Amino acid sequence: MVLAELCGRITGAIQQMKNATIVDEKALNDCLNEITRALLQSDVSFHLVKEMQTNIKKIVNLEDLAVGHNKRRIIEQAIFCELCKMLDPGKSAFAPKKTKPSVVLFVGLQGAGKTTTCTKYAYYHQKKGYKPALVCADTFRAGAFDQLKQNATKAKIPFYGSYTESDPAKIAVEGVDRFKKENCDLIIVDTSGRHKQEASLFEEMRQVAEATKPDLVIFAMDSSIGQAAFEQAQAFKQSVAVGAVIITKMDGHAKGGGALSAVAATKSPVIFIGTGEHMDDFEIFDAKPFVSRLLG
Ligand code: GDP
Repeated sequence: MVLAELCGRITGAIQQMKNATIVDEKALNDCLNEITRALLQSDVSFHLVKEMQTNIKKIVNLEDLAVGHNKRRIIEQAIFCELCKMLDPGKSAFAPKKTKPSVVLFVGLQGAGKTTTCTKYAYYHQKKGYKPALVCADTFRAGAFDQLKQNATKAKIPFYGSYTESDPAKIAVEGVDRFKKENCDLIIVDTSGRHKQEASLFEEMRQVAEATKPDLVIFAMDSSIGQAAFEQAQAFKQSVAVGAVIITKMDGHAKGGGALSAVAATKSPVIFIGTGEHMDDFEIFDAKPFVSRLLG
């Protein structure tokens, strides 16, 4: 199911409940069942959806609500809160410190916006007083190093990469070591997003992670992938210890419902969203406005 459809189905279910002459158990169940179906068809995990349904029913106890209570509003608010909770995995992501060098590894499929997001993440922290550096460990895609170099130069961030070395783990370690010696406190490693075979991509990621021992692995995901979100996020999580998610291209048509699946699949929080091609098009993620947007 595409994201717009998921959003439409959730808002439709809420609207139908709000339009019902009487808000009774049936109206509430119809509404929740429709939301459940829509979320399940969007690959949000069954367990998560079930939990959401149970929680809403606990909050909205129709029998106990005295006459005069605005049941429609209470139900709508409960749905809103539960969707926000679905975006909160209950743990926060590792936050880099200025007192000790941190290594952050970016993973994600080619085209997801990984290289762009690496620079945005570096630039964001540079403005906060960190000393970031960028390492290109993508030896598969021709032009990957040039792209990172170009972005880094624009943001005046030191970078490292190679035109000749083909071992990404070797480059990654060299870059991390160099920038540790140069007293950088945030060393960001960009990895490859494509390979001849998917298995090789994941194996390479594992090797780079093993070699660099990152403090945080960030999974960059395109907001418009819709249905594929859960599976894709899960595949990455199974290969490396993803600790945070960044959803890119939130300025596009997608409303970003894939974030629900990505959080569920990785059990990690969304920390930022990308909202354009420029360095500054980057926002801290906040579940509430996000869900408001999701619900249109
Ligand atoms: P990578 O292959 O994952 O490293 O992806 P790139 O960083 O090369 O990005 C792929 C394309 O998506 C480029 O044209 C980027 O300018 C674009 N892009 C990345 N992030 C965003 C975003 O948040 N919004 C928009 N509109 N475009 C983005």
